[in-house]
Amino acid sequence: MKKIVSAVICLLVIAIASAYGQEYETKRARMVETQLVRRGITDGAVLRAMRTVPRHRLVPETYVKSAYDDRPLAIGYGQTISQPFIVAYMTELLMLEPDDRVLEIGTGSGYQAAVLAEIIGEVYSIEIVPELAKAAGERILSLGYDNIRTKNADGYHGWEEYAPFDAIIVTAAAEHIPPPLIRQLKDGGKMVIPVGSPFFTQSLMLVEKKEGRTTTKNMMPVIFVPFTRVK
Ligand code: SAH
Repeated sequence: MKKIVSAVICLLVIAIASAYGQEYETKRARMVETQLVRRGITDGAVLRAMRTVPRHRLVPETYVKSAYDDRPLAIGYGQTISQPFIVAYMTELLMLEPDDRVLEIGTGSGYQAAVLAEIIGEVYSIEIVPELAKAAGERILSLGYDNIRTKNADGYHGWEEYAPFDAIIVTAAAEHIPPPLIRQLKDGGKMVIPVGSPFFTQSLMLVEKKEGRTTTKNMMPVIFVPFTRVK
């Protein structure tokens, strides 16, 4: 009798767990279809990554149910995880290849880093808020991403030790493009960065480096949290 009861309990737990997992998989598939594909994201690798990364496991507990909503969410310390479309759009602009090395400034929740890690070989991500850096580093590891290296520092200086990078993605709004980041970009590399004053609409810039020359293109208006500096 005892055996039957424990088998029934076991089956119930499995059923609840798989229904729970299924609920988020369904929400994620719907998010990709309605928020990304319908708005023009076409890069297969980006869509695959956004279909795979469990965004609900990277947001604070209070927002788990809203993880796949069409908006940014608060992640504590006055910071936010970007709206799914912005993550997809910025990633698509980088035109990544599977063995690229990418630097991200602003780890935040770790979601953007996880999306990159699904597409490319090595991700380096820097976060200035120590508590966020620690929590994101642990979360990323618990999700099994062993190709993301994180550190707590001011990303203005980039990550010299692993430079140059095929691509750089900055997820906080800077008043100017940090010159160390341009230096650490490979020739032929691309960088996306929101530029403008904090608390106003900023411009999402695509920076390209070709034969030593740097060109910038304004892609769309965006609103990001400010790029801060260590005092
Ligand atoms: N990419 C993140 C978005 C986080 S919001 C995600 O997917 O969740 C932007 C992040 O940039 C914040 O966590 C903020 O603390 C961080 N940030 C701001 N200025 C920074 C700097 N100079 N160096 C590194 N991180 C910075």
